[in-house]
Amino acid sequence: MDSLSSTPATAPNATSADGPVAQAVAKRRTFAIISHPDAGKTTLTEKLLLFGGAIQLAGAVKARGDRRRARSDWMKVEQERGISVTSAVMTYDYAGCTFNLLDTPGHEDFSEDTYRTLTAVDSAVMVIDAAKGIEAQTRKLFEVCRLRDMPIATFVNKMDREARDPFELLDEVEQTLALDVTPASWPIGMGKSFLGCYDLIRDRLILVARSKGEKPDEGELCSGLDDPKLDELLPGWAVTELREQVEMARGLCPPFDLQAYREGTLTPVYFGSALNNFGVRELLQGLAEIAPAPRPQPTAERAIAPEEGKVSGFVFKIQANMDPKHRDRIAFFRLASGHFKRGMKLRQVRTGKQITLHNPVLFMAQDRETAEEAWAGDIIGIPNHGNLHLGDALTEGEELHFTGIPAFAPELLQRVRLTDPLKAKHVGRALQQLAEEGAARVFKPRLGSDWIVGVVGALQFDVLADRIRTEYDVPVIFEPTTWITARWLEAEDAQSLKAFCDANQASLADDHDAQPVFLARNTWHLDDAAKTNPEIRFLKTRERV
Ligand code: GDP
Repeated sequence: MDSLSSTPATAPNATSADGPVAQAVAKRRTFAIISHPDAGKTTLTEKLLLFGGAIQLAGAVKARGDRRRARSDWMKVEQERGISVTSAVMTYDYAGCTFNLLDTPGHEDFSEDTYRTLTAVDSAVMVIDAAKGIEAQTRKLFEVCRLRDMPIATFVNKMDREARDPFELLDEVEQTLALDVTPASWPIGMGKSFLGCYDLIRDRLILVARSKGEKPDEGELCSGLDDPKLDELLPGWAVTELREQVEMARGLCPPFDLQAYREGTLTPVYFGSALNNFGVRELLQGLAEIAPAPRPQPTAERAIAPEEGKVSGFVFKIQANMDPKHRDRIAFFRLASGHFKRGMKLRQVRTGKQITLHNPVLFMAQDRETAEEAWAGDIIGIPNHGNLHLGDALTEGEELHFTGIPAFAPELLQRVRLTDPLKAKHVGRALQQLAEEGAARVFKPRLGSDWIVGVVGALQFDVLADRIRTEYDVPVIFEPTTWITARWLEAEDAQSLKAFCDANQASLADDHDAQPVFLARNTWHLDDAAKTNPEIRFLKTRERV
């Protein structure tokens, strides 16, 4: 199965293809679920964990969310707006595989975080509401996956409600996403008369009792469409419809092609109802069998094969104050290669410093526990006090720069106003931390005492204000500013950059890494500055955050 990437003969850290790293890598499935809000991502996540044995009770994901909400006020935003702004990693075992499921916030204002998370997975599951088909956010996230040629499995959810015709849904996926589709299962009825699914890959019928119970139903297995058991288990109309539709589907859709799926040009489609446990086991089984093991990761220097013996990886997400008891920050680190052991010393490529990883965290579904070891493809959490930044590479010494971690231009700028001027120092610290976490861009104008914050989506301001108030105890208000846009500055020689900065102090600011930024009052201001200073480059984003 997963002989995806053979170790390049020239790789400096190569181990044999059947060595322990290669064996562990072959069992890893690191994936994310992408969907439009409300399609059922949370419910499906919960059921995947339930079937994977990682949680005992249905409802545990939500329950955990509620507990966290009770502890941390900023999640009120999440509650009030009915959106999910946190992102987590959950690890569980199923069918001999170790799954790392990376959760992604669904609301579009948080897509920055989602996009970065997608750089850390090897495949995705796209959840679609059976009544709504492909929605705006699904499509946007799909495009990000496509840029990375990521394999995508599709789960058509909510078949227990009035749904669109399965053929119509398949056609929509194919047409709007320009992707070949092949059904992996076929729904029997829909809405009130939804009875189950026929597993087209294993050629068997799986009927699941309609239960929202605490234990997944085993279901009844039959073999083949002609099995007379079908006639016993299903009402006449359902058997006839199923036989007809499956025959038609087999005629219309290409057969499943593993290579096409792995290359991201074909998606297997599972039908089901996450709420009622329908189709979840087939999806999970499918992921174990077909989803890719960790893929080679691109760096500016060379492609990193996961089977390489030496540890390397990158930070794709930073989250502050996940646990108020610890007041810590967690850097989420995706291992690109090697076998990691607790206590290992790794080199932070950006600074050249050695970091000893004493207390890495493995995110099991229920709680965090210390990670004794991890393999390429796994995600570990590294508690730190701000020394790790987004995009940072950690290696056993090699100079590597992972590419493809997106940085976003802040499109909306606002000024931070303190309601308590005595807290000016605290707000600086809070903003610095949030900027390092990647939650916002923060600019300190060279003149005056303001802070300017840049975000991609307006809702981020609400979340930031809430977090600064609850996590740092500083009440702040975001207000309109005279600045409309920000550009990072670069020049071939340091001298001309300095001369430009000196001459434009009133429009100059520094970001959280002390990089110079030009703040423009309007587009004319920006165009004029660019025209009169051709030796300066005005960049919308910084290469690495
Ligand atoms: P998310 O926003 O994508 O995470 O969606 P949720 O998992 O929170 O689900 C949104 C709503 O749809 C909730 O009220 C769920 O109970 C409901 N839901 C999820 N899956 C199903 C399903 O299979 N059938 C039905 N009828 N409702 C579902």
